[in-house]
Amino acid sequence: MTLWSDAHIFVYHRFGDSRHPTTSTSKEELVKEFEYFKSNGYEVVSLGTLVEKLKKQEPIPDNWIVLTIDDNYKSFYQNGFEIFKRYNYPFSMFVYVEATQKRYPDYMSWEELKEISSLGSLEYHSYSHPHMTYTDSKKLREDFKKGLKIFKKYLGFMPKYFSYPYGEYSKRVKDISKEFGFEAIINQNMGAVSKKSDIFDLDRSALVGKTNLKYYLKFRYLDAKWIEPKGYPKNDILKTLHVKLNKEANSAGLYISGYGWQKIPVRKNEIKTTLNKKLQKARNRVILSVNNEISTKLLIKDKYGTK
Ligand SMILES: [Zn+2]
Repeated sequence: MTLWSDAHIFVYHRFGDSRHPTTSTSKEELVKEFEYFKSNGYEVVSLGTLVEKLKKQEPIPDNWIVLTIDDNYKSFYQNGFEIFKRYNYPFSMFVYVEATQKRYPDYMSWEELKEISSLGSLEYHSYSHPHMTYTDSKKLREDFKKGLKIFKKYLGFMPKYFSYPYGEYSKRVKDISKEFGFEAIINQNMGAVSKKSDIFDLDRSALVGKTNLKYYLKFRYLDAKWIEPKGYPKNDILKTLHVKLNKEANSAGLYISGYGWQKIPVRKNEIKTTLNKKLQKARNRVILSVNNEISTKLLIKDKYGTK
């Protein structure tokens, strides 16, 4: 049986750092995952290779894996990099600029970043690592301008890709991020990448703590057009779900944070159902699934609305 499906992007944070068990990947676990890729026919390609394929609108090979690392933790330099080198696996590291600039002890230096760029690409993860949906538009643009300027000054080039701090974004945050010329934006919603994926909203699953790699690898991309909800709903009430599917199905699975999974009917490739569910958190996931195919909508309360 093959678990191959559309391409998968994974994100790591810390490596072999027992102080942070929920955001760290042990060396043993990393080797286990890499051995799994190697012995099951997966091909680890760079994020750039995947993005170029998406830009050309060509089908994405089923066995592609893209590895990314959020935050430039020193633990990658100490514990992760040697393993990536051993397997010759490319990666993209998303840099939290202020942490390196101000030499926070847990983070890599500019020199260390340059050293790892022999195998990986360095990308952008903000200047001050803010909760972007809680940052007003003016401050947000200032954070981008400042961080990109310092990135360029010390590393000598502009980053091509961006990942949101904490994986948190809204339509406003996404629109502002796009002003800065990134070629692709990566989220932190579990899923897969197909040629239908939005290049500015690429799904990525987290491989941290104790994870089930096979669970993530079985997901495929669900071609779904979300009509409602478009963003975090007014008065916290998720009234209606309206989604058009590009495939036939009798029913779909629906997950809402705080409510778990339920089964909902699909009629003529369309889901239209009244939910009237009060969202319980500031950060919610709505996930639709048809068999192994999933599509996620992240609903985060944006303090500064839709401007
Ligand atoms: Zn981060």
